[in-house]
Amino acid sequence: MRQPREALRVDDRGHVQQVRQVRSPNRDARPPGTDITLAVVHGITVPAGHFGGDGVERLFTNTLDPSAHPSYAALAGLRVSAHFLIRRGGALVQFVSCNERAWHAGVSEWEGRERCNDFSIGIELEGTDTVPYAPVQYRRLAALLLALKARYPLAAAVGHSDIAPGRKTDPGSAFDWARLGALTGAPRLPRGLMAALTGHPDSGV
Ligand SMILES: [Zn+2]
Repeated sequence: MRQPREALRVDDRGHVQQVRQVRSPNRDARPPGTDITLAVVHGITVPAGHFGGDGVERLFTNTLDPSAHPSYAALAGLRVSAHFLIRRGGALVQFVSCNERAWHAGVSEWEGRERCNDFSIGIELEGTDTVPYAPVQYRRLAALLLALKARYPLAAAVGHSDIAPGRKTDPGSAFDWARLGALTGAPRLPRGLMAALTGHPDSGV
């Protein structure tokens, strides 16, 4: 099979080799023997609605300056993280090893299992619920999901809103699941299984 140009690889330590690593202290061990079966797609901006800047990185590394924006006071003391962030321009940043538990899902449930952080990978897209996500973000997300699928027994990719309905709305109506499905070769994403996720993403730019 042709190797897609954007192919990524997850190493034994749970790191994607080709991407910038920023260590978040907001992580801990997964429960022993837990298989990683779920990918959770989020949308985030810090401050809310602002693209660009280092707000998300600072939030995930507990280094937000409370005086930098009026909304930051409310975020003080928050201890959150995700495994990955995909910027508007497609740049991928990793904050937590996939083998460890990141703190992205909160109170959550998927197919009767609670505490989705235990068994999921959290992927943040820089964006809001209502502004269309960038095409390059879909391509990076598809490439990342394929790399994760090659390493872990992923069964589904869902939105934060799917595992915390009524509490969370991201990645929002702006996120085009059909587009992601077409790129991953799994047309029934997100609520269908990713068993068909054996193809490769569109490598066009
Ligand atoms: Zn979220």
